[in-house]
Amino acid sequence: MTNHYDYIIVGTGCAGLSLAFGLSQSDLLNDKRVLLLDTETKSTNDKTWCFWSREEQPYTSSQEVSWQNLSFKADSLDIKEKLSELKYFHVNSLAFYKETLNSINSNHSFTLKQLVVDQIEQSGDIVTVKAGQDEYTASFVFNSAISLINQKPEKPALWQHFYGKRIKTQDKVFKDNQVKLMDFSLPNADTVQFGYVLPFNEYEALVEYTEFSPSIRTEDDYEVHFKQYATTLALGKYEVLESEKGQIPMSEFLFPRYNSSRVLNIGTSGGFTKPTTGYTFKNIQDDVKSIIKSLENDLPFHRPYAKSRFRFYDRLLLGIIRDEPHKVKGIMTKLFKNNSMERILTFLDERSTLLDEVKIFMRLPWAPFLKQLFLK
Ligand SMILES: Cc1cc2nc3c(=O)[nH]c(=O)nc-3n(C[C@H](O)[C@H](O)[C@H](O)COP(=O)(O)OP(=O)(O)OC[C@H]3O[C@@H](n4cnc5c(N)ncnc54)[C@H](O)[C@@H]3O)c2cc1C
Repeated sequence: MTNHYDYIIVGTGCAGLSLAFGLSQSDLLNDKRVLLLDTETKSTNDKTWCFWSREEQPYTSSQEVSWQNLSFKADSLDIKEKLSELKYFHVNSLAFYKETLNSINSNHSFTLKQLVVDQIEQSGDIVTVKAGQDEYTASFVFNSAISLINQKPEKPALWQHFYGKRIKTQDKVFKDNQVKLMDFSLPNADTVQFGYVLPFNEYEALVEYTEFSPSIRTEDDYEVHFKQYATTLALGKYEVLESEKGQIPMSEFLFPRYNSSRVLNIGTSGGFTKPTTGYTFKNIQDDVKSIIKSLENDLPFHRPYAKSRFRFYDRLLLGIIRDEPHKVKGIMTKLFKNNSMERILTFLDERSTLLDEVKIFMRLPWAPFLKQLFLK
């Protein structure tokens, strides 16, 4: 059967290409055949991915820039900290697409097709993937297309949305090489609003206006808020090199891991986007490692869900962002004032111990959390 493959990967975004790249680097493939399907060719820089990690990453595209100086700002509090074990990484999505596609294209196991997948259906041990008139079968399918998961998320009550520009200034504005992780220099009345800055050198940085709110803004509105934030940075004259706009659902929805026993959802579709932060890239890399390990052991798809206590914390914080957005700046201020960046990032990565979590929560304002607890 020429249309039969061992694995079909639907979607060649971050999750699909990470998995294909991982497979290409493993001893798993030998004479196996893998089909990759996407509606797009992935030839633009459509995203900037950031994440933190203790380990170096397998991609050259993630090694170009990284930072250890992070800062948090709110009112008179301006925390600047140097990470000791962790590094904050940045990946240009186009560089990542090129690197992973190069590796995949030079491996005879892979076939890539640009198609819109309409349906994935399992019958017995065979999965059929339909794309228009075309039909392909596989022993296992990895799906990252949200439209193809069995249970669809409802319209999210909240979005993390951002509008940013990579700019080049005339003066050495970014000479301290600090990533501004959260900068609450903007008024936070009805929605949560903060700035984010990623410096690439003394003159260049990605400056972003970020908001957590129930609705997305218009382009003109973003421009006003971006300029308002840019003013607080005293940038002087600058030129715009690139722009970025994006939205990530902040959803409590539990994405189904499996569509059926041989169809595994991966990436955002598999529930690997952290609801309160939007960070996904590192979760995807961890998932790829465990998928490959499970395939080596002939036990595909064995990976536990995130620990339920982290889902619980996310739910409480999402409730506060939705019901009492004006309290979020205060909560974040206490969080960053009373804990090291390394402890906070480890907690956000869901790798903290219960004792660490108790220490974190003891030093936060309790009332909004208790209110959410009793509202549930
Ligand atoms: C602008 C932006 C910035 C982000 N920044 C960060 C960050 O800094 N750090 C972080 O950790 N996370 C970040 N995220 C979140 C997350 O990492 C990304 O959304 C990531 O791309 C998710 O990977 P994915 O493979 O699940 O989805 P995608 O990368 O979106 O890939 C899904 C693929 O499926 C294809 N597809 C969809 N439907 C079909 C179909 N029917 N048939 C065929 N193909 C189909 C799409 O064309 C796409 O290529 C960001 C998200 C956005 C939107």
